[in-house]
Amino acid sequence: MSVLVLNSGSSSVKYQVLEADSGRSLCSGIVERVTDYSAALREVFDALTAAGVHTDDLVAVGHRVVHGGRRFYQPAVIDDELLAKIDELAPLAPLHNPPAVLGIREARKLLPGLPHIAVFDTAFFHDLPAAAAEYAIDREVAERWHIRRYGFHGTSHRYVSEQAALFLDAPLDSLNQIVLHLGNGASASAIAGGRAIDTSMGLTPMEGLVMGTRSGDLDPGIIMYLWRAAGMTVEDIETMLNRRSGVYGLGGETDFRELHKRVDAGDDDARLAYEVYIHRLRKYIGAYLALLGRADVITFTAGVGENDALVRRDALTGLSSLGIELDETLNSAPERVARRISADKSPTTVLVIPTNEELAIARACAAVLEG
Ligand code: ADP
Repeated sequence: MSVLVLNSGSSSVKYQVLEADSGRSLCSGIVERVTDYSAALREVFDALTAAGVHTDDLVAVGHRVVHGGRRFYQPAVIDDELLAKIDELAPLAPLHNPPAVLGIREARKLLPGLPHIAVFDTAFFHDLPAAAAEYAIDREVAERWHIRRYGFHGTSHRYVSEQAALFLDAPLDSLNQIVLHLGNGASASAIAGGRAIDTSMGLTPMEGLVMGTRSGDLDPGIIMYLWRAAGMTVEDIETMLNRRSGVYGLGGETDFRELHKRVDAGDDDARLAYEVYIHRLRKYIGAYLALLGRADVITFTAGVGENDALVRRDALTGLSSLGIELDETLNSAPERVARRISADKSPTTVLVIPTNEELAIARACAAVLEG
């Protein structure tokens, strides 16, 4: 069961062909600086051919779709109607859904004989408890405009929480978990017995943790103030909050390896960026500990979470009174596989687990095909 997984973003198309059952990756890559999705997908197909993957061997194409809105969350075979609906959700995810629609459209043209399946990033959070999902705003406005916390990176939070249970050889439904997905985009989730009970991203992927270029949480008053006092347009503000904020906005850098180098060299902006990032992360960890009552396991994943021992140390240091104790030797070992980094005596187990959204998408596609 080989599935081609496509993640069509605003400037790149990531692709991977995987066997859904074995998890073996047959071919993967990224086409960058995409302006023409038709050309980008032809490039993908050339790469598949060069890697000896024949499209005849594929059983489906899985597409990552960021926002499913209120109605779509289960993985679904894409027809013209579903594609039009995903397109209509563009105002909710202006940076993410339009490129996904373009990618899907071109892929369907190039591979018309295969089922194309949408896997939504919001799915895992569809059943958040109302107390977590609802914003405390005028109820009529919220209902009329479908305003709620949708949550994103759901494929990763689900996959990583399942892998954590496998790693611990414990039933998923027995575990209270916190998952920290720290990549360019970053989000946290609290998971009780396999079910998400809160997550840091909201109506859009802008809320929550400090990210590479996104601000995360801020006072909504800032937006009104910038509009009124600074004369910025909605587009100006959106661009600033999405592309010129976060670690980059504060420290002029998105790559954490460079950020650390600059901190070490005495750069005050870089230090501030790092401190604000860690402060927010600790705040969410504390909030989720309070929601869960206790955490059996805290798992770091994605580019920063998997690789940055300093971020992991600074996120969890000094929390032994809350049952969290890292083993610094395990934490700083440069391994790339799923591993424990907490001390043996730590009541909360801390793990690093590489995420694999592509595999999770391929498996979701296989499940759809198997009905
Ligand atoms: P996304 O999928 O959201 O684009 P990734 O999960 O690939 O992002 O994470 C990208 C981030 O991971 C970048 O901020 C980069 O700095 C960070 N990163 C990658 N490798 C390392 C490393 N060895 N040490 C620290 N940070 C790293």
